[in-house]
Amino acid sequence: MISTNSTCEYCQIAGGYGKLLWETNHWNVYLAPSQRYLGTCVVALKRHCRDLSQVNNEEWIDFAQIVEKLEKSLTQTFQPTLYNWSCFKNSVFRDKNPNPEIHWHFIPRYHEPVHFEGISFPDPDFGYIPIPKKREIPVEVMEQLAIKIKDNIIKG
Ligand SMILES: [Zn+2]
Repeated sequence: MISTNSTCEYCQIAGGYGKLLWETNHWNVYLAPSQRYLGTCVVALKRHCRDLSQVNNEEWIDFAQIVEKLEKSLTQTFQPTLYNWSCFKNSVFRDKNPNPEIHWHFIPRYHEPVHFEGISFPDPDFGYIPIPKKREIPVEVMEQLAIKIKDNIIKG
């Protein structure tokens, strides 16, 4: 696994991307530490790579399968209204010697609040770009969330 100097405000964590959910040959899928938008994940390339233009064909094909599986899984789990996919890399460039890593933010968006394990998850920014504001949920709820998303990925 690659190390990271990232303190991306969307990922909300220094030195990592959260809880590893699933991996393919070329990408790791993490459950993001902040769940302001329920089901938010990070998809990170396993090798170091600065720009999307350096991602090779095999990695793109692999990524396309992750997009399909993740969207399908979330649709089965929480029926989001839409999905945001973003690749920013902005915050790392505030450093003197930026060392960006390719990682995608996968952010399900909801027109109506969703409920999970007795907790309500409204999307206060629906229709707009996601706000990098941290929303933590209890560890056991994170566990359940990870299991649910993972189960639906595996079931396909
Ligand atoms: Zn990030």
